[in-house]
Amino acid sequence: MRLILLGPPGAGKGTQAKMLKEKFRVPQISTGDILRQAVKDDTELGVQAKAFMDSGQLVPDDVVIGLIEERIKQADCETGFILDGFPRTIIQAEKLAETLTEMNIAIDTVVDMEVNAEEVVSRLTGRSTCSDCGVMFHEESRPPKVPGVCDGCGGHLAQRQDDNRETILKRLEVYQESTSPLKEFYKKQGNLKTVAAGGSVEEIFSRVCEMVR
Ligand code: AMP
Repeated sequence: MRLILLGPPGAGKGTQAKMLKEKFRVPQISTGDILRQAVKDDTELGVQAKAFMDSGQLVPDDVVIGLIEERIKQADCETGFILDGFPRTIIQAEKLAETLTEMNIAIDTVVDMEVNAEEVVSRLTGRSTCSDCGVMFHEESRPPKVPGVCDGCGGHLAQRQDDNRETILKRLEVYQESTSPLKEFYKKQGNLKTVAAGGSVEEIFSRVCEMVR
């Protein structure tokens, strides 16, 4: 399975990617997670990326393209992968296509997760993530049993730096401008499938699974 999850911030790409990874036993590759880890570890990459991420802008194409090229060549990606949050620009998509051709492989399906902007703002402002295992909670739709503590592993729940109203609106604007043209790009290639990303996590998961089998 070689899959791309497309969709605005808050569509649930990360949540669905984690569930798909368990079901299909292929790695989830999230450029957002890789970059956040680099910021946390204070590496050169993290220092380079932080200001872009905090302001809701995209990290430069050459930086993320380099990351992905290195990652998809690793042994655990041989049987497939789920790209979550990449590509986000036409340049990234073109470069990915080139790399995959060189590797003699191709993307099977691109799932576009559709959700409206109002829903995105409400999902993201109430969201918190476990700093240890990465599981996500929401103050209304999926509150943790003990506030601030992960139900699964007991880790500390933190709000993402960029999950504040102002930055969310900027991220949505960037999505419209730079990422939404990818729908047309993949539609032309004939592998775009659109899923309504409203409802419960489980409902969305069963719709996504229908599309990727
Ligand atoms: P995400 O966790 O996917 O919402 O990504 C968080 C932030 O990381 C984004 O707002 C961007 O600043 C950066 N980022 C993640 N993936 C990419 C990408 N493919 N291209 C450029 N920037 C990215």
